[in-house]
Parts: sequence; structure tokens; C-alpha cells
Amino acid sequence: MRLPQSYLHRLRRRHLATLVGVVVLVTAVVEFYSSKPQAMPVSHTIVLAPSQAPVASQVALTSKPATDTATSGQQTASQEPQDFDFQTDDELPLPKPTGAHNTAPTLDWSSYTVQGGDSFSAILSSWSQPYTVAQEILKAAPSADLVEKLNPGDELDYKIDGSGDLVALRIRDGLRVNYIFTRQTDGQYHYEKIEKPVERYQEYFAGTVDGTLGASARKAGLGSKVIAQCIHILGNRIDFARDVRKGDTFTVVVERDWLGDTPTQDVRILLVEYHGKRKQVVAMRADDGHYYTPTGNSLELAFMRYPFYHHYRLTSPFNLHRLNPVTHRYAPHYGTDFGMPVGSHIYAPADGVVVKTGHQRYAGNYVAVQHGRYFMTRYFHLSKILVHRGEKVKMGQILALSGNTGRTTGPHLHYELLYQGHPVNAMTASLPRHRQLRGTALAKFEANAKVLLAEAHQNSTQLLASNSHGYIRQRIQ
Ligand SMILES: [Zn+2]
Repeated sequence: MRLPQSYLHRLRRRHLATLVGVVVLVTAVVEFYSSKPQAMPVSHTIVLAPSQAPVASQVALTSKPATDTATSGQQTASQEPQDFDFQTDDELPLPKPTGAHNTAPTLDWSSYTVQGGDSFSAILSSWSQPYTVAQEILKAAPSADLVEKLNPGDELDYKIDGSGDLVALRIRDGLRVNYIFTRQTDGQYHYEKIEKPVERYQEYFAGTVDGTLGASARKAGLGSKVIAQCIHILGNRIDFARDVRKGDTFTVVVERDWLGDTPTQDVRILLVEYHGKRKQVVAMRADDGHYYTPTGNSLELAFMRYPFYHHYRLTSPFNLHRLNPVTHRYAPHYGTDFGMPVGSHIYAPADGVVVKTGHQRYAGNYVAVQHGRYFMTRYFHLSKILVHRGEKVKMGQILALSGNTGRTTGPHLHYELLYQGHPVNAMTASLPRHRQLRGTALAKFEANAKVLLAEAHQNSTQLLASNSHGYIRQRIQ
């Protein structure tokens, strides 16, 4: 749970995919399933009249089935729909058939789900259409791909009249776009492209911690994907195992695109505020897509806490006063030991330059990296060194494979952090942070932050007072 956001930016793609998977999975498992399964809360939705100004004035408390919202608490990470599809024919206006059979408007649509191995002409053939119909539609289509690149699970809607002719065919292209082909009297097809208008809303969520943070967030109406992102954003500032207390409150503001009544997964988190007994954090998104405190300090680290991405057990902590039980002498432990299998990947926790590689009797194979003026990291007992002296390394770049060389009692990594030449505890040292907004970017951010925070506080007060599992939705633009 303590993976800094900035890990993501530096990872190579294949690692990124793995990490995202791990984060989502860990989040899902730790945050969601550590609590007892509970009854589905009824989702009351506090919806503001769409045309209202940002300040809430008309509030309608409505009760909707939870499945109406993307933020239904019942969905889990793996089940969350990636995609919302058109659910009924009413959602899109159908075009008036131009020169089509008179009977067309009264016909019902039928649906066909594309199967693996289907081809367009085979599908049409299964509807008893001659091959020429497939050819005519292909000829009319804006692109051959639209018709020929069908994926299993795609839905085709069609109308066949009394004489067996295919009079209308609807092909969906993504969420927003439908193509409707209608048959003309001459047997050719014309298509009409219909785009669903996207509306953008700000959604306000607020809740009180009772049980796990994940369960509390779900109760507040947040979806698992947004919860995972929030946890990621706050992860550098909040230790979720220690800092979360019953009665703490949180507020989340997201911006989401809606297609009519259908929420899409096109979501941006604008603000996350955690107001706890132990920790208070406000994170707001700036135009650069990164998250900052209201005064423009980044919440992301420029220095990763751990030089790896897995959870390895800390087997021996940093200790300047470790007393050797045998010799009764002080034998300080300048590093932190992590038990891990030989061959585990060790990554640069920050940008730097490799200043030393080699082999030493006690340290085994080792690497030392200088990070800027003040910091150095060292890695002992390696099985394989993958960088050379003088090499510039980027945060997240692989340095070596862990091992069991030198004086060890088992495979592990000995990880040291030095500040101005003095060993410090890598687990607790304050590490450099990324970015600070400055100048006009800061002025703009602060102005936006002021407005958003005020709205968020007003809405969150209302939500917490109403004690409903709801959220407030405001149309923007
Ligand atoms: Zn050690």
C-alpha cells in the first residue's frame, strides 16, 4: 500500500502492467475483503438540477437502484465494467428511414452477439441474407474495419421485414457512436452516424470511516477503481495500516463523463481529502495531471522508499546500536535487510549515477549509486550486477539481481541509504519530493483549489449531515 505514485511514471511498460495489476489486486484484497461481507447499501443519490451553478441550491434526494450508478458498492475491481453499453433502443434516436421499406419503423430490433470466429458475411448468411447484402453494406460503410473487424461480444442490432430483407442494421463503434445502415429501395444501403452527447459532471463523495477504509469508501458510493486511485494518491502521506481511525472523514471529488443516464469510466479524480485524527491530507489535481497540496507541493516522491516493487519481509532493521549477542559488542547495522529469493529485481529508487560496483568479502557483490548531492544508496549480497560504474540510472531502472553472496545467513538484500555520507534509516528518512508548482501555474492552481475546496467542503458537510450513502452530482460546462 505504500507504493509511491511516482513509481508508475518510471516503470517500463511490462512492469507497469504488473504493478497496476498488483496494486489493484492488493487494494481489492486488502481494502475490500478484509471486512465482513455486508449487505448492499441502498444508494441514495443526491442529484442537483443540472443547470445549477456550482453552489448547491436545489437538492433532490432520490433513491435509485445501485446498479444505476457506476459507483455501486457491489462491484469489485475485476467486475467493474470497463465499458458501458447502450442498454435499450430508447437511448438513441433512430433515424427516419429514407426511402426504406414502409414497414421498417414498426419492426422490432433483434440483437445478435458476435461469436469467436464469426465473419460479417457469415453472420448475415445466418440471417438468411444473400452474400450481396454483405457486399452492399461493406460498400456503404465509412470504413471496411467497422464492418469486418467485429470482436466476440460485440452486439449487432438488425431489422428484417416480412419479405426477409435486412432493412436496418446497427453497428456500435465504441461507447458513443452508432452507425445505422438502412436499406434503400434499390437494394443499396445508406448509413447514418449517431453520436451520443457526452455531459461532464463533478461528483462529490464524502464519508466517515467505520471498519476498513475500502468498505467505508464503498459505502460512500465510490467505485473500486476510484478508490484504488485515491489510495494511490494518498499512499505517500498516509500509512493505511496505522493512520486510519474510526470516525475519520474523507471527501472525494471526481469529474466524470456521462452518456445520457449512463456513467462512463472516463473519470478524473480532482480532489481527495482525508481528515483523520492522525493525518490530514488534501490532494488536488493540477493541469499537469499530478497531485499537489493546496499550496502546490507535490504529493509524489522523487525517491522511492523501497528499491523493489514487491512486498518483501523486512528481516533486520537499521540499528546503530545493535548489540551482537555473541561478542557483546556494538555492531551497528547500517542497512535494512529484506528476505527475498535470489534473482529478485533491484531497482534504482531515484535518478543517479553508479559510483561503485564490485565484490567484497562481507558485502558480496555490491553496487553504490549517488543520487544528487546528498544521497547515496548501496546494495549488498547481489547475485548479478546489471550496471557499470559511471552509468547514469533513472528511477525504476533495474540495477541488479538480489543474491546470497558475501557473509549472509540466507538470500536477502542489504539496502543502505546515506545522507551526506552518514547512514540513515531508509525506512523512515524523509525523502525528496517531486515538483513544486511555481509562478503562473501555481497562481492558477491556487485559485482553482480555493473554489474547489470550498465547494467540496460545502457538499461534504451536507453529505455527512444527511448520513445517506449518496453523492452530489453537478453538471459542469
Ligand atoms: Zn544487512
